[in-house]
Amino acid sequence: MRQFGLERQRNAICSALMRFPLFLVFLFGWSAYGQSTYALRAARMFDGKSDGPVQPGIVIVDGNSIRAIGGPAPTGATVIDLGDATLLPGFIDAHTHLTMDFNPDYNGQRLENLTRTIPEQSIRSTANARVTLMAGFTTVRDVGSSSFMDVGLRNAINSGIVPGPRMLVAVHALGSTGGHCDEGDGFRFGLLNHESRPEDGVINSPEEAEYAVRFNVKYGADVIKSCPTGGVLSPTDDVDAPQLTQAEMNTIVAIAHELHRKTAAHAHAPEGAKRAIRAGIDSIEHGTFLDDEALRMMREHGTYLVPTLSVRSGIAESKFPPFVRQKADLAIRSQDSMVRRAIAAGVKIALGTDAAVYPHGNNALEFVLLCADGMTPAQALRAGTSAAADLLGLQGKIGTLEAGKLADIVAVPGNPLEDIKVTQSVVFVMKEGKIYRNDRSGASTKGL
Ligand SMILES: [Zn+2]
Repeated sequence: MRQFGLERQRNAICSALMRFPLFLVFLFGWSAYGQSTYALRAARMFDGKSDGPVQPGIVIVDGNSIRAIGGPAPTGATVIDLGDATLLPGFIDAHTHLTMDFNPDYNGQRLENLTRTIPEQSIRSTANARVTLMAGFTTVRDVGSSSFMDVGLRNAINSGIVPGPRMLVAVHALGSTGGHCDEGDGFRFGLLNHESRPEDGVINSPEEAEYAVRFNVKYGADVIKSCPTGGVLSPTDDVDAPQLTQAEMNTIVAIAHELHRKTAAHAHAPEGAKRAIRAGIDSIEHGTFLDDEALRMMREHGTYLVPTLSVRSGIAESKFPPFVRQKADLAIRSQDSMVRRAIAAGVKIALGTDAAVYPHGNNALEFVLLCADGMTPAQALRAGTSAAADLLGLQGKIGTLEAGKLADIVAVPGNPLEDIKVTQSVVFVMKEGKIYRNDRSGASTKGL
């Protein structure tokens, strides 16, 4: 029995050795071609910068980047034919809050934020990241979080621990005491142990503004978010009140730019927005009540507008205290006319949605709403691809389908240039050459 056992062992080793060359071919063939080289085909492609589609759409992916547009599939490449679909650059949302959950019960959510532990909130944020990626959004600029959850989520995604979009994070949005970005707003004095400080994103002088920008960058910020006007969903402030002085705005933008960080300003009303534009801000978020002078200044300075029209879907189903409801209704009524005037004035527009004010994963609704306000489908698609990449400073890496760019590629059924709503039905998602979703293959990876 013992002899037989040894013989069997030897035979097993021999047969493994005999198979070895074949194994090697399989291994290297798999990594060099099967796993990392793809030829993606679809009826058409939108490259993120043109007005029309290219037919058919063929993108050759090698490793984490695009090797070529068009041409034959390289030998050994895995061919993925998506049929009647359109290949596009991975979508970009320039305004999300992935570490916050949507909850239509306003007061219930405030209580949840106080009772859920930070680990629980962090784990929940991974689900928000996943549904955002599966909806075709391969990059987000996440403009405000707390307890460094955005930094943690970004790092976990970058390490491949959880699936999610590439994140540019802001750490704390910077505002003033009692303003839209003061997390202690609406609570009794003393409840939260200390009055909000620069380390919490609350500043009240240019000196504190400088310190807070440096603090955010030290602890992981990719972008600096500021709050120069009141907000809609904050419980005690007027939405049109300026909340940062010109000197504070100037400092925030100057220090951020010195540290090679782009800047975003939450601004609903003209005066606060104008201070931010004068300071050289890179984007105005919301812009709800902007007047023609503010829009003209934005055009002159090349400032982006990020309209966040999608908030209306969450606001419609939310239960607010009367003061907040009044502000929300006023804002929703003003958004469309402002965006129409911005488009007419030639202001640069990037897609951003304020995800968390409505359910995560519905980001593509913004494409539909931008078109309803007068954009052509090609303009809206550029807002959510090449224009947003430009705003984020990532135009050399993402935002278009071109050789050398990172392989962030999505596909939608049919033709979004004829029916923009198909952006809400993404069937294929690839980020940096890795497939996260393919509803048109037998073995779908949906739900990773
Ligand atoms: Zn926001």
